[in-house]
Amino acid sequence: MTHSPIWHPFTQHGLNEPIPRVTHGEGAALFTADGRRIVDAISSWWVTTHGHRHPRIAAAIAEQAQRLDQIIFAGWTHDPAEEVARELTRIMPPSLTRVFFSDSGSTSVEVALKMALGYWLHRGEPRHRILVMANSYHGDTIGTMSVGARGPYNAAYEPLLFDVGTLPFPAVGAEQVTLDALEAACAEKPAALIVEPLVLGAGGMLIYPARVLREMAVICARHGVLFIADEVMTGWGRTGTLLACEQAGVVPDLLCLSKGLTGGSLPLAVTVAAEPIFEAHYAADRARMFFHSSSYTANPIACAAAAANLAIWREEPVLERIATLAGRQRERLERVAATAPVHNARALGTIAAVELGAADGAYLNPIGPALAAFFRARDLLVRPMGNTVYVMPPYCIDEADLDRVWDAIGAAARHFAEPGPAAS
Ligand SMILES: *Cc1c(COP(=O)(O)O)cnc(C)c1O
Repeated sequence: MTHSPIWHPFTQHGLNEPIPRVTHGEGAALFTADGRRIVDAISSWWVTTHGHRHPRIAAAIAEQAQRLDQIIFAGWTHDPAEEVARELTRIMPPSLTRVFFSDSGSTSVEVALKMALGYWLHRGEPRHRILVMANSYHGDTIGTMSVGARGPYNAAYEPLLFDVGTLPFPAVGAEQVTLDALEAACAEKPAALIVEPLVLGAGGMLIYPARVLREMAVICARHGVLFIADEVMTGWGRTGTLLACEQAGVVPDLLCLSKGLTGGSLPLAVTVAAEPIFEAHYAADRARMFFHSSSYTANPIACAAAAANLAIWREEPVLERIATLAGRQRERLERVAATAPVHNARALGTIAAVELGAADGAYLNPIGPALAAFFRARDLLVRPMGNTVYVMPPYCIDEADLDRVWDAIGAAARHFAEPGPAAS
């Protein structure tokens, strides 16, 4: 092996784990330089919705690359961005009227937080406290780590993270504790609440009821606290509906979308804002403009990919495909839960998760790398979080590939099961 100078994300190079080299992808499969076909059971970290190298998205990218590759977006515009913004405002709740582009999920959250603070400042009522839910994940920048769960992954940066109000996760039977905590926290006039609707992804695929999401939105509205929905993972059908918020009848003030926005093909994000937030920044006074941009804001090629994704949603039976996949996932989840030593089997839409063995779910649980190796050896891209194994495949995955994934999860559960008292 020649030495690579690449420093990979979320990778401990000191463990010398193999880093497979991928040459191409198609549908739910990835192909490696050494000739293996890998089933992508986690949609390449939750981004690939319709499958790798979707022909319509690939064609839109190729065509746009021949036309206009990049243009400053402050004071300039272009067709692909206009099309994406128009189509987004058509399919999103009508009160979400303003589309702000950026280039990653983290950035879309940073933008939402900055818009929330700008809103309060320009109303002459400065507020800055942000409420969050325990176990949340909103990104890896300093601001998004501040509103996310604290743990080994951000311990080194903790002194730089800003203080937030943390609500307990609405665990089964303790939902009212979360709602009471929100009610109490709202009395202190926070600027906003930010939540991952229905599923906390990186926190361990923790699912909570739509009723709780709805109640949280009602409490925020009653206190005039802005409601920020981070649908970076849950958006684009992951939970069974276009947005997870739909299932709770919730319309946020600020909505963050990324991952599946381009079908998972290119980096792009949007923060969609309700009119009063735009209005608060609207004036003849340049000091009140929204001070945010990144170089690749609304990159035309990425926008063309997003426009193709939106066309796929408009013209193809995407929600039906999702419903079919959700049913197939649930069948296999139930089978594994009935026949293998797993617990906390849970599913929502295309997402399904189980916990293996009696080990705890801490991120640095040593079972993690062993499990990853187990799946890698079986040509499966599955990336457990601690002892939590989840499946979140592209919507085009077929039954045979899904069987391979779930059979391996059952086998892993048996392989890593801790011997009970009788067996030891
Ligand atoms: C992945 C994710 C982010 C961060 O998105 P990036 O594109 O990786 O910066 C933010 N919020 C949620 C809920 C996510 O799952």
